[in-house]
Amino acid sequence: LQEHIVRTKRLEAVEQMGAAISHEIRNPLTTAIGFVQLLQENDAPQEKQTEYLTLIKSELESAERVIQDYLTFSKPSLVALSDIYLHDEIHHVLKILQPLANQYSVEITEKLEPVSSIHGDRQKIRQCFLNIVKNAIESMPNGGVLTIESTASPINAIVKIEDSGVGMTKQQIDRLGEPYYSTKGSRGTGLGMMVVYSIVRALRGTIKVQSKVGKGTVFLLTFPIKPES
Ligand code: ADP
Ligand code: MG
Repeated sequence: LQEHIVRTKRLEAVEQMGAAISHEIRNPLTTAIGFVQLLQENDAPQEKQTEYLTLIKSELESAERVIQDYLTFSKPSLVALSDIYLHDEIHHVLKILQPLANQYSVEITEKLEPVSSIHGDRQKIRQCFLNIVKNAIESMPNGGVLTIESTASPINAIVKIEDSGVGMTKQQIDRLGEPYYSTKGSRGTGLGMMVVYSIVRALRGTIKVQSKVGKGTVFLLTFPIKPES
């Protein structure tokens, strides 16, 4: 069993990554536009046209993945801090990801006990759980079980996300959160966990990862609850 406490890593703030992200989105768009121009300009044979269209589709999908890992819930110029109930936000995220879970034959069990509120940005908190749960589902290409639990302690809201997926080695766990680190080839962005660590750090939370190759992974997150006033 690989157990590893990953202190909320010192990564650039999500905001500072904005420029890099826009680059990550602009690159595939520029390539796609190039192929559209080729299609418009020349009288390429049918098979060439089909090839260009396939490339355009894959470039657009790549831009869409970056947006999903980074901007799913963001609203322009709206950084609003409020009292957030994690069990509600997680329930919302699970609803959004249900179609993906169905596609992967993943069964989701929710054990969401009401927890005291934490203070934070709702969009970012949803993005954080979306990225973790999406990874968990994607780690079970042949189906499996995903369990999400929330519990309260006197000082923390605790969330446990457990999958029965491919698992990770210690080396892989160590690299979690590193920008562009992905084992998913062209289907990965390597941005999801970077965003997760950045958000958890902003909330002064902690992330603990336990994983066993071929067995599955547990993410344990804690967030300090808002003191009653
Ligand atoms: P991406 O999902 O685009 O590859 P992420 O930053 O979201 O990028 O995740 C980085 C890598 O961490 C993944 O490619 C995968 O190797 C690993 N990973 C994250 N969560 C899990 C999980 N629940 N089970 C197995 N591997 C995981
Ligand atoms: Mg991911």
